[in-house]
Amino acid sequence: MPAKKKKKSVSSWIDVTAPLHAGTPHWPDQPDVKLERMISMDDGAVCNVSMLHMSVHTGTHMDAPLHFVADGIGMDQMPLDATIGPCRVVEIKDKESIKVKHLEPLNLRRGERLLIKTINSKRCWQDSRFVEDFVYISQDAAAYMVKRGILTVGVDYLSVGGFFKDGIETHHHLLRACVWIIEGLNLAKVKPGKYDLNCLPLKTLNCDGAPARVLLKPR
Ligand SMILES: [Zn+2]
Repeated sequence: MPAKKKKKSVSSWIDVTAPLHAGTPHWPDQPDVKLERMISMDDGAVCNVSMLHMSVHTGTHMDAPLHFVADGIGMDQMPLDATIGPCRVVEIKDKESIKVKHLEPLNLRRGERLLIKTINSKRCWQDSRFVEDFVYISQDAAAYMVKRGILTVGVDYLSVGGFFKDGIETHHHLLRACVWIIEGLNLAKVKPGKYDLNCLPLKTLNCDGAPARVLLKPR
């Protein structure tokens, strides 16, 4: 059998991670991802070695409290239970933002891991350009999530807060309350429902964020 032949995957995990490459969309003030082969077998080397250079807030990633709280904890301090365990995926179809009225019927529970699918998943990951008018969590909705005591929230574009509105306020509400934030999910292939979440951000020491691989398995 040729060595390159791929084995057929039988895993029931759904990968909701955005792939990292030079065209991965990013916040306008942050650089393009650089993923370059520094040592190459094409050039006669014994192996391939690549270098990765990127913002920790590009692609699928997590925010630590330190992102918006000067004396907040960093990614290495995250309790692993924040991102491994049961979670709920909900779909909210509002074209502008996630509002309190969308959350009230959900009966959010203390310690819950909540991932929110919006039109972003289908709309925003199509090309490398940053989409300014993505659907975000309104600051009132963020405050409501904190009041309900959720543990973790995930969104399907690059920020929980909006580009034009509530960018700072929404982060403040969530991160001051130590709600762990997953950003940059692509939930296009995921139906609302109950899942097992397996998300491991890199152990960046005393750092405001980290790239993450995020997987879901239907329960
Ligand atoms: Zn971030």
